[in-house]
Amino acid sequence: MTSIDIRNNENLSPLMKQYFDIKEQNVDTILFFRVGDFYETFFEDAKTVSRTLNLVLTGKECGLEERAPMCGVPYHAVDTYLSRLIKHGYKVAIAEQVEDPKTAKGLVKREVKRIVTPGTVLASEYLEEKSNNYILSIYYDGIKFGISLVDFSTGEFYISSIDSSKKLYDIIDKYRPTEILYNNFLNFSSFNIEEIKNKYYVSISVLDDSMYDKKRLKESDYLNSLIKKITNEVIKEDSVLFSIISVYLYIRDYQQKDLTHIEHIDMIEDRTAMGGRMLKHIIESPLIIKEDIVFRQNVIKALYSSYRNLSELFEYLSAIYDLERINARINMKNANAKDLIALKNSLSSVPYIKIVLKNFDNEYTNKLANELDTLKDVYDLIDKAIVDDPPYLMHDGNIIKDGFDKEVDRLRNAKVDGETWIPELEKKEKEKTGIKNLKIKYSRLTGYLFEITNAYKGEVPDYFIRKQTLANAERYATDELNKLADTILSAGDRLKVLEYEIFQNVRDKVMLATNRINKLSHDISMIDAFSSLTKVAYDNHYVCPTFNDEGRIYIKDGRHPVIEKINVNEHFVSNDTLITKDKFIHIITGPNMAGKSTYMRQIAIIVLMAHIGSFVPATSCDLCIVDRIFTRVGASDDLSRGRSTFMVEMTEVASIVNEATDKSLIILDEIGRGTSTFDGMSIAWSVVEYINDKIKAKTLFATHYHELTELENKISGVENYNVVVEENDGDVKFIRKIEKGNAKKSYGIAVAKLAGLPNEIIKRANEILVQLEKKE
Ligand code: ADP
Ligand code: MG
Repeated sequence: MTSIDIRNNENLSPLMKQYFDIKEQNVDTILFFRVGDFYETFFEDAKTVSRTLNLVLTGKECGLEERAPMCGVPYHAVDTYLSRLIKHGYKVAIAEQVEDPKTAKGLVKREVKRIVTPGTVLASEYLEEKSNNYILSIYYDGIKFGISLVDFSTGEFYISSIDSSKKLYDIIDKYRPTEILYNNFLNFSSFNIEEIKNKYYVSISVLDDSMYDKKRLKESDYLNSLIKKITNEVIKEDSVLFSIISVYLYIRDYQQKDLTHIEHIDMIEDRTAMGGRMLKHIIESPLIIKEDIVFRQNVIKALYSSYRNLSELFEYLSAIYDLERINARINMKNANAKDLIALKNSLSSVPYIKIVLKNFDNEYTNKLANELDTLKDVYDLIDKAIVDDPPYLMHDGNIIKDGFDKEVDRLRNAKVDGETWIPELEKKEKEKTGIKNLKIKYSRLTGYLFEITNAYKGEVPDYFIRKQTLANAERYATDELNKLADTILSAGDRLKVLEYEIFQNVRDKVMLATNRINKLSHDISMIDAFSSLTKVAYDNHYVCPTFNDEGRIYIKDGRHPVIEKINVNEHFVSNDTLITKDKFIHIITGPNMAGKSTYMRQIAIIVLMAHIGSFVPATSCDLCIVDRIFTRVGASDDLSRGRSTFMVEMTEVASIVNEATDKSLIILDEIGRGTSTFDGMSIAWSVVEYINDKIKAKTLFATHYHELTELENKISGVENYNVVVEENDGDVKFIRKIEKGNAKKSYGIAVAKLAGLPNEIIKRANEILVQLEKKE
């Protein structure tokens, strides 16, 4: 039975009919036909695949007497099978299910989504070498744009939530995605996707709603685990989540690529320089071993000693590109010549960084300097091999420097010399034959040939081989001309191939230094982070904290490092803090807006800064090692998670009291607000008792419940503090000073007056207050 007979057989099953419909459009390729989790091949294709890939040939019911020969490969491993088929010279068309099988009415629709040929595989390699290859997915929900930006080849995955189309244009301009995916609703925004398409030649695809479905998260534990790792709040926005899901599904299902090498999803703003990333890392992982902290302090002290050297250090540091990223590209064989030059240029700064560090003339900076590996061998290799300003395209030559490779030099000479060889040969043959108007002509079709007009036809010697007849002339080749032409014409092509080969060799050699580059990158990031901490300390007059073992936190003239910078209208008032082993719970009262929250946060920040090795905003600071800092600040609205504010607050308080130890610092800012006064007060009260009796953690507790100040007389660890205000004829003035003792009154009405409530209301409120107080 021939395949035409089968094709026309009426008993053929619908699935097989669909198969043949698609196969007819792709006769000269092997058709991979997606059925569930497999790509199946049938009939002749199945036999070819089974033979080439050594896979079992099975059969499938197809409505006829004989089963259809069948051979399948699992979808998740398709890439390896594809590459083996391609190596054998086959082309493969991949037909996907383009409908969700669960919702499809009848047979699932299938379409060829990708044709893989040896050519396209090369072409894609070629593409990746040029630069990053981002896919951008945009989900517009009517207000905001949730976006995901993925470079499959480098494993980069970025997200962001943006609120203006202007920012979206900026991102596209910066990252130049090669593909943009979006939901239909984007057409109703002020963002013009068609304009982008024409401007950047980017391919755009509108995806259907099934690609923006949270349920599909169930399909990938891997994606779930990636999403769980995202700490940034934006992940709570559905539009961001949708952009992640859609781009993931698109790459998985339409490009058939395995994404498991992507390790984390970052915020777009995180594309900071290495030093910035390290600083972030340092801040997120404070140290709890005194010696480690002191080492960092000593480095900062050393760097602090000469502002001049520090400035110079910054200059050399800023000349260093992102080594981590270049290294990743080298490792994935994605680096192009420009990347190697970027690496070389970065490395050129390292010896100077070493020198400047030594100029500080201090044991700690010396230690950093000695640790630095300048990677001179790698620098020299790139310097000798690669031209200083190589092109982006890697297959067009002009990458390798003169003098690095003999063969490259020879071919280059052939190209240049060739331009003189041709006129020389022309002259020689003219003299030899005596034919005055003999000429060498070049055409793309025939290459180099002698041209002799018909008048001299009789004088053409034997060794001239006639190749072409024109109206009034004939064209000839000679062995010598052929040879010359061959050298000249092939030199260019051979050169391109050879240069690329040599480049790959160099890249492979650089790859051997991967671990060293990584270490250097880490060391430089560290130095960068230290330098930044030093500069901040210098510019803002911070001091170096000391550590005690007595469980004491003593801050003199502490400041809030952020508020003191941003609030330019008001001079920042510094405050002292003394928390001891005996008096470790501070209850802080004071009117609204007096400065309670600022004061508590400032202590938390100073303690954190001290634990990363940084100097702190104070005139002196002596503290103990703290194992964790817990904060429950304000009553932030968390309705998006579907839980009430009060519930969220209590959940957090629960985890704080369960996890804190006597070495922890706890900041509680107005807890218990979200419920009735008596409830809230009782909870606050009993939390303080529990901390005092069971945990003994250092605790700062701001509250508007004046009743809690009574605890000072009842509980040994408690001490009252209040933010002082000055009152004059019913007007309050905030003076931002923290003092021992409790606030005399709540000043609520005075604050209301300050806020601009009409006098009439203020007056009446005062009357009511007097009455109420009398009643009590
Ligand atoms: P509270 O928590 O008591 O209601 P906040 O701590 O929120 O008050 O402070 C209100 C505002 O007062 C802050 O946003 C800040 O601008 C200002 N402020 C607070 N503390 C100080 C200070 N020590 N020096 C100068 N301004 C301060
Ligand atoms: Mg507050």
